[in-house]
Amino acid sequence: MRKPERFRRFLDYFTTHFPEPQTELRYGNPYELIVAVVLSAQCTDKRVNHVMPALLEQFPTPAQLALASADNIFPFIRSISYPNNKAKHLAGLGRMLVDDFGSEVPSTIEELQRLPGVGRKTANVIVSVIYNQPAMAVDTHVFRVSHRLGLVNKTATTPLAVEKELVRYIPLVLIPKAHHWLILHGRYICVARTPKCEICPLKGFCKYYITNFGQPAAEDLNAATTPSI
Ligand code: SF4
Repeated sequence: MRKPERFRRFLDYFTTHFPEPQTELRYGNPYELIVAVVLSAQCTDKRVNHVMPALLEQFPTPAQLALASADNIFPFIRSISYPNNKAKHLAGLGRMLVDDFGSEVPSTIEELQRLPGVGRKTANVIVSVIYNQPAMAVDTHVFRVSHRLGLVNKTATTPLAVEKELVRYIPLVLIPKAHHWLILHGRYICVARTPKCEICPLKGFCKYYITNFGQPAAEDLNAATTPSI
């Protein structure tokens, strides 16, 4: 199967069955989202959602975060992965939001990447979720699922290479949604160790499945036509 056909089937499936995907991080404004996304690096959204209310009660705005030291922030995020580094990042992030951006979360990838703790992936999430721009954040789920499905070539060995291939084939208007579709599919169905191929509705065109198990029988496909997420 050629790549454009594979993309077409991927997009058709999710557009039909899951037209309005959302991030699972809870947030009320851009400041809260950027704090949550910084905390979510190598940590589950569930755990981040658990610590956010107390953290935001103490530091509800960039101005309050800017006044905090890493030591002040640490107790609120101690159960998150890499709490020392993330506490330092958040303290620096608060100060830079206030000093350089008028307490607003910037809207360009270049400006966002100046903030402590914000790499290209985090910046893409912010511009995609908050500003609805066509940016594809490639995390471990997006990377894995894109490769298994055969949406990207084997030679795409870095997140940036995967990002470039995906945005080449996905219509701009669908890129923010496709980001969520790939993440959620990777989180719940196409999981890292043992993908749940038996219940996956994408196996009819999935490169990994067809390579390892052959083309699925019609009854298998019919059994897997429920929404995957
Ligand atoms: S068929 Fe299996 S490998 Fe392919 S996307 Fe579904 S769960 Fe992942």
